[in-house]
Amino acid sequence: MIRFDNSYARLPSGFFTRTAPTPVRDPKLIALNRPLAESLGLDADWLSGAEGLRMLSGNAMPEGAEPIAQAYAGHQFGGFSPQLGDGRAILLGEIRAPDGKRYDLQLKGAGPTPFSRRGDGRAWLGPVLREYLVSEFMAAFGLPTTRALAAVSTGEIVVREMPYPGAILTRVASSHIRVGTFEFYAARGDHERLKLLADHVIARHYPEVGSALGLLEAVIRAQAATIAQWMALGFIHGVMNTDNMSVSGETIDYGPCAFMDGYHPDMVFSSIDQTGRYAWSEQPNIAVWNLAQLASCLVPLMGEDADKAVDAATRAVHDFPAIYQKQWLLRFGAKIGLTEASEKDRPLIERLLDLMAASRADFTRTFAGLSDGTAASEFKDPAGFLAWQQDWQKRLASEADPQAVMARANPRRIPRNHRIEEVISAARDGNFAPFHKLDEALRAPREPRADWDEFSLAPTSEQVVHRTFC
Ligand code: AMP
Ligand code: MG
Ligand code: MG
Repeated sequence: MIRFDNSYARLPSGFFTRTAPTPVRDPKLIALNRPLAESLGLDADWLSGAEGLRMLSGNAMPEGAEPIAQAYAGHQFGGFSPQLGDGRAILLGEIRAPDGKRYDLQLKGAGPTPFSRRGDGRAWLGPVLREYLVSEFMAAFGLPTTRALAAVSTGEIVVREMPYPGAILTRVASSHIRVGTFEFYAARGDHERLKLLADHVIARHYPEVGSALGLLEAVIRAQAATIAQWMALGFIHGVMNTDNMSVSGETIDYGPCAFMDGYHPDMVFSSIDQTGRYAWSEQPNIAVWNLAQLASCLVPLMGEDADKAVDAATRAVHDFPAIYQKQWLLRFGAKIGLTEASEKDRPLIERLLDLMAASRADFTRTFAGLSDGTAASEFKDPAGFLAWQQDWQKRLASEADPQAVMARANPRRIPRNHRIEEVISAARDGNFAPFHKLDEALRAPREPRADWDEFSLAPTSEQVVHRTFC
């Protein structure tokens, strides 16, 4: 049983469409995230039983669920689509967790909705397992992110480039409200619903702010902090469209995302990102672009004087770089053992990144290798690195416990693309053991354990993944 406490479904017409999931033929539980279930105050035994499986597969809705598809718009690769919405996701409802916070329970891949356009509303096993592993790793490492409560197989076939086994992910988020949700009403000039949405988001995510400008500033701060953390993990989201940017600051929509192995700032993996719009190094710039769209949406709510409102909104967006750079210094400083890196430390960090780029040094192994003295082996010409290391050692002399700082900031293992591909490939053959093993290892990303050492290895040239797909 689940005690739902739905708030989005109380909003007036125009915010969503009531849509039940489409039942599937032969649902089977692949994974239930018990620790998450417990932290949400959900009964894990119920969830993994027959009734729970009926909900997680969309075959029957428990009491209190009010399935809806949320309306939203969005800029996709810079072009505006006024009508997107949940095309393959259905929000079952919201719960209040023991931490007092409100969480959405959503099924991804639960069948078509009025927003599906030509899509089938379904997901296949690959993206479901990828999102499960990556979002749970992000959470384990401490990043703001949507979570994965469960994955089920459907017993049905989903046709993409070829037939694949179907699956459904149960996603948990503090909300699924996006920049694109605001764009939906702003584009229609519907200031009444825009205001209702802003009030809803303030009450839900930022109760301390008292205005639309305050809301914009809060989203800007949240996104700056999140994206600095992506950067510090070598994470590339892959589709930073405005409909994939959460106003809560949580990382959302793990489509063609990837973690870099060899470092280069221009890295792109997504097969649909042909121009490198969403390359690793572009992510903070794109965040500004997206937040400027949010700012435009909120201007009508910022008072009578339109010029003043535009000025204030512009200033807020222009503050992003300074907020982000502070976060960047904090995160990258910690990666080299600095408790509170300052602007004076920036050249030292950037020099290391330049050396890494020249060697395509493995991002995760290089930083992890700073702690145990193995980093030099990541460089083609270690002389440059060794010179850097001397300057770094001098800087570390004034740090109290750089080893502890680095141990917190640098994961030993990340969800490497080739590992995820292996897991998916085994799962397609019905073998979920590699999935569970990788999932367990990624839940303790800092912990040393000999039987997990294989997950710290960089891919061989045959294993390396160059492209990821949604
Ligand atoms: P995404 O690229 O995952 O952010 O999705 C962009 C839009 O396409 C969203 O409105 C999705 O709901 C919709 N969409 C993506 N895949 C499907 C699908 N298989 N069926 C229906 N709608 C989809
Ligand atoms: Mg999306
Ligand atoms: Mg997606």
